[in-house]
Amino acid sequence: MSKGHVLALSGGVGGAKLAAGLAAVLPPERLTVVVNTGDDFEHLGLTICPDIDSVTYTMAGLNDRQRGWGVTGETWQAMASLKALGEADWFNLGDRDLGMHIARSWRLREGESLSKVTARLTQSLGIAHRVAPMSDDPVRTQVQTAAGWQDFQQWFVGDQCGPAVSAIRFAGTPGARPSAAFAEGLGRPDLAAVVFCPSNPFLSVDPILAVDGVHDALLGLSVPRIAVSPLIGGKALKGPLSKMLAELGLEASNRAITNHYGPLVDSLVIDRTDAHETAALQGGGHTVTVTDTLMRGPDDQSRLAREVLAAAGVEY
Ligand code: GDP
Ligand code: CA
Repeated sequence: MSKGHVLALSGGVGGAKLAAGLAAVLPPERLTVVVNTGDDFEHLGLTICPDIDSVTYTMAGLNDRQRGWGVTGETWQAMASLKALGEADWFNLGDRDLGMHIARSWRLREGESLSKVTARLTQSLGIAHRVAPMSDDPVRTQVQTAAGWQDFQQWFVGDQCGPAVSAIRFAGTPGARPSAAFAEGLGRPDLAAVVFCPSNPFLSVDPILAVDGVHDALLGLSVPRIAVSPLIGGKALKGPLSKMLAELGLEASNRAITNHYGPLVDSLVIDRTDAHETAALQGGGHTVTVTDTLMRGPDDQSRLAREVLAAAGVEY
């Protein structure tokens, strides 16, 4: 068993739950959570980082579990005001959430890097573990639909993922360098494991893998690289993953997930409802752990985090 450092790669809501679980069972100096910034966008003069926000709220215990996203105890007065003023209302901005966007936006405008701002905001909310953007250079996910290339949030929120996606690209890559914390995490001599959180592989993890040098750095590691599947019973819990698998002509199974990550991942954690896939996945060369991967709350998050660490041979 290793007592080393764990590098977790996360998107928003799904990834955040496991990131919070890992933070509950590992001391701050043994975990770095690297977050997708491909969903980031400018809206009403604000820089919004949806996945960093999801991770921050969840790790701070401030996430709204009923709604499934955003901050608990949210109100919507500012949104109503914006609407009355005739401003864009396709993207929901809660009052509490706005505080986050304002704090981030003005610090960025003052010249602070996204890494520095993210460290400041997470620490202010009591998060002791390191949370870092994948890059301080802007990366913007775009999807190709029948209407051509579209910015991610326009499709995801504006069109509610309706139009079929035929391709995805990450504007700004190549050329986006890993953030200092990400580069340091990948190069640590005491690195014990890389955990791919149960995030959307196409929309949340691929942008992280598209950051300069990341793919090759992961390929060159000799520590366990373990992915928790976002599929339960062959389906995504929420979000466009199931729809995208079908549109991209891929089967709705964990085989599609391991095929997608290829040699970057050597170990997979799947849900009990998908246990029938175990032999096939093992035949493909993967180590497989079967457990309950549904995270209903902090207890599930910590339990799954412990199981992931145990499967990766990491002490907690
Ligand atoms: P987003 O950026 O907010 O869309 O979130 P992510 O990309 O991080 O996560 C979306 C994925 O998380 C979806 O495909 C869900 O199936 C998956 N997901 C959400 N909650 C859970 C959970 O409790 N367990 C597992 N295994 N997957 C989950
Ligand atoms: Ca996201």
